[in-house]
Order: sequence, then C-alpha cells, then structure tokens
Amino acid sequence: MSHLNDKLRPLLDDRGILTDAADIEPYLLERRKRYHGQSSVVARPKSVQEIKSIVEVCIEDRISIVPQGGNTGLCGGAVSESGQLVLSLERLNQIREIDSANNTITVEAGCILANIQNTAQEARRFFPVSLAAEGSCQIGGNLATNAGGINVLRYGNTREQVLGLEAILPNGSLFSDLAGLRKDNTGYDLKQLLIGSEGTLGIITAATLKLYPYPDHSVTAFVALKDLETSISFLALATELSGGTLCSFELIPHIGLEFACRHISTCEPPLSSEHDWYVLLSLQTSGSTINLDETLEALLESAVEAHLIDDAVLAANEAQAARLWKIREGIVEGQLFEGGSIKHDISIPVSKVPRFITEASKAVSQRIPGIRPCPFGHVGDGNIHFNLSQPVSMGKDEFLSRWEEISELVHDIVDRLGGSFSAEHGIGMLKLNDMQRYKDNVALDTMRAIKNALDPENLFNPGKVLPRS
Ligand SMILES: Cc1cc2nc3c(=O)[nH]c(=O)nc-3n(C[C@H](O)[C@H](O)[C@H](O)COP(=O)(O)OP(=O)(O)OC[C@H]3O[C@@H](n4cnc5c(N)ncnc54)[C@H](O)[C@@H]3O)c2cc1C
Repeated sequence: MSHLNDKLRPLLDDRGILTDAADIEPYLLERRKRYHGQSSVVARPKSVQEIKSIVEVCIEDRISIVPQGGNTGLCGGAVSESGQLVLSLERLNQIREIDSANNTITVEAGCILANIQNTAQEARRFFPVSLAAEGSCQIGGNLATNAGGINVLRYGNTREQVLGLEAILPNGSLFSDLAGLRKDNTGYDLKQLLIGSEGTLGIITAATLKLYPYPDHSVTAFVALKDLETSISFLALATELSGGTLCSFELIPHIGLEFACRHISTCEPPLSSEHDWYVLLSLQTSGSTINLDETLEALLESAVEAHLIDDAVLAANEAQAARLWKIREGIVEGQLFEGGSIKHDISIPVSKVPRFITEASKAVSQRIPGIRPCPFGHVGDGNIHFNLSQPVSMGKDEFLSRWEEISELVHDIVDRLGGSFSAEHGIGMLKLNDMQRYKDNVALDTMRAIKNALDPENLFNPGKVLPRS
C-alpha cells in the first residue's frame, strides 16, 4: 500500500489522503460493531477528476476500492479489508445547481442529505428522502443503497427521485447523464442499474434529483389501533379519505413506546391509556385547497365509527408533532438500553403485514422463550423493522450468538409470504447468505454477468452484494 500512497500523493492535496492510523480509524468503524475495516489508506478527493485519476491508478495496480459516504449504512457495505483503498466522498459536496422551473437539484455525491433538504426548502421546494441518519448520511450513499425512510408511501424510494446520474465506472470512464429529463427512452436506463448497487458497479459522483412543492401544511396524529389487524383497514381508509395527502404511516408496538419513554428523556406517552399497537401518521400538502385539520378529524371519526381505532391525539403545533416523531426515533435509541437486539429489515405485501408479525413473533418466542419482539416501521409500504430484544434474563453475547439462526427463522417466514429479506438497507456483507438462500438464481446469475461485464477485475467493492458462486 505504500506504493499506492506514493502514486496518490501527487494527485491530491494534503487533506486528500490519510495514512495515519488514528486519522483512518473513523473510516474503519462500522456502526453496529459487527465488522471492523482494515485499510491503511483513505483517499478524500474533492473533484470528479481526482476520483477518475485515483481509479486509473487502482486499475493499473489492481487495488480494489471501497466507496464510503457518511458510513451510516447498516449492512457493512462500506467496510474495507486489508489492501483495499477506502474512497471517501465527503469532500465532493457541492450543490451544483437548483433549477426551480425544472423542479430539480443537481448535487455532488458527498452532500449530506439534510443539506439538500434545506437547500430545497430555501427555494420553497421539497426533497422528500428523509431518514433518522439524514444529518450524517450522504446522497451518494442514499443512491448507492436506494434508501427508503419515512416518506416512501407518498414519494417512493430514493430511486424514484432520480432524473440523472454521474459516476466513474470500473474501467475508469465517466458516465454522465445529468440532463434532468423526465422523458428519455433511449435504451437501457443505466442510472437505475447503478442506484442500489452499493458501490459494486460505479462510484457515484453526482445526481440530478426531483423536487416537489414545499408542503407548508402538515398535520400529525398518534393513534391507538383496535388491534394489529386493523392497521391495514385503517391504512386503506386513510388513503381513501386523505385526498392524496397521506405521507407517513408508521406502526409502533406498545413495547416500542415503552423503550422510548423509559430511556429517552424527551419521550412521554401521548395517550392516557395503554394499547397494544399504535400508528403515527402525517398528512401534508402545499397550498390551501385542502383543510388538513378537518381532513384528519374526519378520518379519525370515520375510523372510530368503523371500530378500527380506540383513541388518538392530534399534534396542535409543530413542536408537538416533533415530540410525537421523537417517539418513533426513540424506539431504536431506547432499544439500545435493553441489551442485545437482533434486527431485520423486511418487506411484505401490505395486506400480509399483520400475519407476518403474528407468525414471526410466535416462531421466535417458541425458539427463545422470553424474547421481546419489537416490530415497528413503515407499515404503509410493507416495510417492517422486525427487531428482537433479548430476554431480560439472558446474557447479551449468548443472545447475539443466535443471530444467524433467528434470522433464518424470520426470513423463511418472509420468503413464504412473498416478501423480501432486505427492504431498504441493502445487502452489504451482512446479507450475503440470505442472497444465496432466497434470491432467485436467474436474478443472481444475471447480476453476476452484469458485474463481470462492467468490473471483470472485481475492483469495485468486492465481496459486497453478490455471494460467491
Ligand atoms: C439511525 C439510522 C437510521 C436509519 N434509517 C434508515 C431508513 O429509515 N431508511 C434507510 O433506507 N436506511 C436507513 N439507515 C441506513 C443508512 O442511513 C442508509 O443506508 C444510507 O443511505 C447510507 O448512506 P451513507 O452515506 O451513510 O452510506 P455508507 O454507509 O457510507 O455506504 C453505504 C453503501 O453505499 C456505498 N456508497 C456510498 N457512497 C457511494 C458513492 N458515492 N458511490 C457508490 N457507492 C457508494 C458504500 O460502498 C456502501 O456499500 C439508517 C441508519 C441509521 C444509523
């Protein structure tokens, strides 16, 4: 690697290359501490040309490259091995252009997601990708993982926000398609191939993204469901009665509320009585043609009449809405204080979500008595974070040593119900065995053929996404 270091130094400024172990350490850490990276060189280019030059050197010396964004990914996709170069996009972070007439923003890969949201808002526009890591994840990482988040129900995944992409391909060439066209049927849609490829097919350097009118009216309610089954009928009713304004619809189990309120000081139970299941929902609109307060009240009245919900509290202002949303974020934060947790990021056809939760909770409880299922998340799009906290009386290490076994049990049920073992977090290294076990062979072979065609030397993020054949 010292040879690589010598070749890269003349291409980059002083801040563009890190070789000191203490400086490199943050780029090797993985959020969930399941992996620890091993590289001895981190490159931090600040221009597309610099990235191109780095890739050319790596091709020449057959050094593989691990692109890294905000390093918030949950599947080990940005983790490096010894002898690999970590290529951090953090300094490639300019907003290139905002085009209000075209309703687009063109951004470089290292832009922090929240900065893009704020820049759009300053132009009275809305960029809808939103997730709890938005203050540190980068748009390049969001694109590479096709991130989801809380607004997918209304706006779709990151993939659906993209009109153009720029990337360095594994042969060192620059693919550039940033025209921002809403119609362009000229052959294969290459940008969509790169989105969700987790750095295995190209290093994303910039993107042209869709913007929407800024939703200046928003209402939020925390609702106690009659039971788990009624979540789906309530979702259907909310979709029907909200006139296209339903934005988020998040399922929260009572244990999740307990975790948040027990451990996070800003969280408190919003309702006076306890219920097994809740939904946190938001309606949003721009302009004033729809009165959202009246729409929400009418929706809740209809839901009570239809025996779908038992109780509800409406946020009276933005601060109250933020407090309700804090509960949703506090589930994961609170769960950290409850010992070990085994996590799953699954999706299922929406109609089967209650059945999945019931069957999977029963199966894991039979396998590990006392296990505490905490299934929560984006029920509006069928994506449940099926998180399992350890039994109170069990050791953390003993519980976590059962991760593979429990995941297989859960993912087998997902597979039987026609769902996916990875809804929004991707594959990385964490889910390679699942890819082998559940992914259709024709799909896997086609993916391998694409990888081999674009990256025959396997230099871009090797060992991620595709299990060895
Ligand atoms: C608290 C918390 C909440 C989260 N909530 C959600 C959620 O609601 N929905 C969701 O989808 N995810 C969520 N995540 C996961 C994570 O934030 C997303 O996967 C995010 O998109 C990763 O972005 P990043 O910049 O941190 O990428 P990284 O973690 O740095 O990288 C992720 C993958 O993308 C590749 N990559 C990064 N940048 C580039 C690039 N420019 N070109 C090519 N490849 C690249 C990496 O090699 C790696 O394979 C959450 C994470 C945390 C910590």
